[in-house]
Amino acid sequence: MDPIHDAAQALRGDTVALRRDLHAHPETAFEEVRTAAVVAERLRALGLEPRTGLGKTGVTAVLEGPRHGRTVLARADMDALPMPDEKDVEYRSTHVGAAHACGHDGHTAVLLTVARILSERKADLRGRVVFIFQPAEEIVQGAAAMLADGALDAIEPDATVGLHLSSMHPTGTIALRAGPAMAATDSFRLVLHGRGGHAAKPNETVDPIVMAAHLITALQPLVSRETDPVDQAVISITSIHAGTAFNVIPSSLELKGTLRTFAPATREHLRSRIVEISDAIVTGQRGRLEVDWREGSPPVVNDEAATERVRHIAQNMVGIDHVETGSLIMGGDDMALWLQRAPGCYWFVGASASDASTYPHHHPRFDIDEAALPLAVELFTKVILDALDA
Ligand SMILES: [Zn+2]
Ligand SMILES: [Zn+2]
Repeated sequence: MDPIHDAAQALRGDTVALRRDLHAHPETAFEEVRTAAVVAERLRALGLEPRTGLGKTGVTAVLEGPRHGRTVLARADMDALPMPDEKDVEYRSTHVGAAHACGHDGHTAVLLTVARILSERKADLRGRVVFIFQPAEEIVQGAAAMLADGALDAIEPDATVGLHLSSMHPTGTIALRAGPAMAATDSFRLVLHGRGGHAAKPNETVDPIVMAAHLITALQPLVSRETDPVDQAVISITSIHAGTAFNVIPSSLELKGTLRTFAPATREHLRSRIVEISDAIVTGQRGRLEVDWREGSPPVVNDEAATERVRHIAQNMVGIDHVETGSLIMGGDDMALWLQRAPGCYWFVGASASDASTYPHHHPRFDIDEAALPLAVELFTKVILDALDA
């Protein structure tokens, strides 16, 4: 007798159909208009009163049981990626240049089914569940936008929970990690201003190309020589743009890059050192540096006790051998901001079919194994009920 398991299985067809509909109509960050409309309509059909337009396209709804109790935030992200969908499936993207290549269509469908199962049990609920459908996770801005728009006004959560489907783990496997789990993600844009001129008369120019060559090399020791080897950090320069011709030295050059860290002190140190070293090199070569630092999301940190509770539920569901301690991920997720509001856990649900070739997240042929959807629904529902009882 496991009514939540039975409900998740009974609604499998509906969850899959919903996921395929969202998959065929992907919308990128802050453009999730149709997706948000589908979400709001589904929530209204459950008798809930969704708030819409939070952080442009975010949606929330509160399910309140008859008895007073704890408040649990349950979050799903809704956005797709600006990239082609190269799969040959009937539900492939119908929007040119947009694809659900990270599985957020699955997250949205799963949380809507969870909302349905819990709504049908409303009379037995103690406390309340706040469903959060968030835009723009891929550019790590959606959570901040919703919070700035008052998504949690008058709501003081006691726990935050959420999941990400994972093509890195086989279906039937759950991966989770207590403590820091995903990195803080900051990005930066540096503009190196020099003075352009004839390539044959470099002495009359201030050459930003040579500055960039020194600068990129000079940033490398920040991780290898200035970061504790047992700490983790990544600095990647990901874009360089300058110049137009064989014989023209350009007047400026643009670099883009990203910084990934876990420890706040490391994050602060590397941020200030990237700027300091860049400035020293550029001014040392008679140029001028312009810095555009874009603070991203803090690290995802899972609460020890909450993670143990999720682990226990997962082990009962899929067996102890199929619950893994996840590895540290240098990618980020703005689930971190919801977890800052209340302790909780963000875990991974394996969604890779053993018989099919699996593509990584953000690959143009990425897909999820839909057999993972009812498992995700069951685990998410049980974790919410458990968090209400904690
Ligand atoms: Zn992604
Ligand atoms: Zn994702």
